[in-house]
Amino acid sequence: MYKELNTSVCTLMTPGPVEVEPRVLRAMCTSILGQFDPEFTELMNQTMEMLRTVFQTKNHWAFPIDGTSRAGIEAVLCSIIEPGDRVLIPIYGRFGHLLTEIAERYGADVANIETDWGQVFDPQVVIQEIRKVKPKIVAMVHGETSTGCMQPLKEIGEACRELDILFVVDAVATIGGTAVKVDEWKIDAAIGGTQKCLSVPSGMAPITFNSRVEAVLLQRKKIERGLTDASEPQNQQARLIRSNYFDLSQLMDYWSPVRLNHHTEATSMLYALREGLRIVLEEGLEARFIRHKLHEKALVQGIQAMGLKIYGDPNCKLPVVTSITIPDGIDGESVRRMLLQDFQIEIASSFGPLKGKIWRIGSMGYSCRKKNVLHVLGALEAVLIRHKVKVCAGDAVQAALDIYQKEE
Ligand SMILES: *Cc1c(COP(=O)(O)O)cnc(C)c1O
Repeated sequence: MYKELNTSVCTLMTPGPVEVEPRVLRAMCTSILGQFDPEFTELMNQTMEMLRTVFQTKNHWAFPIDGTSRAGIEAVLCSIIEPGDRVLIPIYGRFGHLLTEIAERYGADVANIETDWGQVFDPQVVIQEIRKVKPKIVAMVHGETSTGCMQPLKEIGEACRELDILFVVDAVATIGGTAVKVDEWKIDAAIGGTQKCLSVPSGMAPITFNSRVEAVLLQRKKIERGLTDASEPQNQQARLIRSNYFDLSQLMDYWSPVRLNHHTEATSMLYALREGLRIVLEEGLEARFIRHKLHEKALVQGIQAMGLKIYGDPNCKLPVVTSITIPDGIDGESVRRMLLQDFQIEIASSFGPLKGKIWRIGSMGYSCRKKNVLHVLGALEAVLIRHKVKVCAGDAVQAALDIYQKEE
């Protein structure tokens, strides 16, 4: 009755999940090792090492949280936010709202500033707000996949460091696709994603944090020990980390030579992440970022040659997501449906104020390659003609080919 699994091979051009590197899929088929087997713990250590390189950091702590990217965000936020802490979260798209929701659930007193979707913040505006709000933590999204915009972080990071504020960054969409310079930008904790530019399936969230964050964690752990003596005042109880699964201080003991048992490591996902990181480092970070820029350029030129408009401020465009304004009177969902049904190509819609207004095409990791860019342009053109949109037929693929001929 239930047939053997035999999934379609789709061209995934969404901002996640993206096509997985064949080598990663193969790595996931290897046999399971016990989680304290030295052979396995060595793989854990190698994964930590490669994560440091990808995050461009000297931080000791860099390891994956088991769970999707938001698990990484939740682990960082719940481990450093104590009830009543002021947290400033500037919002320029959907994922700023996610940071806010998670922070509030852990009792933060959140202050938001918002800018129009399709824009990012002038760093000076954020810094002014930081001086006014005086938060303990500033949390921000680096690449907003919901709009296709990317926030410059360096000046904000420097201001936070100067004022002794913790700076937390959601780099889920950007890690492995464009530079995320944790140390240079003075980021105290960063969260990456696997199913976007690393081209690994969804299910792990690599994070990194520095000694400033570690100090907060150790302080809270001390309180926990104090409480077991029953000598600490009642209000200290409120300061305990509320999550067991996401308690970074426990996870540090698990990801250190102490190897204190916490959860059962997601063995096959660790194989996958390790292989994905190996591929990133073999390609080289700089070469990988240049590749993402090249295919972005071909895609954008193609879309424009077709006669469509790119959505959002071009000065802050996220190189791995291209947002396109849906032409007036066109049912965006019908176009997406036809792309999937007839061409097995998936592109994304958007959320909230942008629902029905834009399509989003991801060009991330293994999905970010010439074949996919040319396919999506050709197919989109055909589908739009089918929907009676007046496009400059034939121009899109030619414009992309021009870029490839010039720059490849
Ligand atoms: C995709 C994404 C997330 C959420 O990732 P999940 O893996 O779905 O939990 C968070 N932030 C940003 C910027 C994203 O693009």
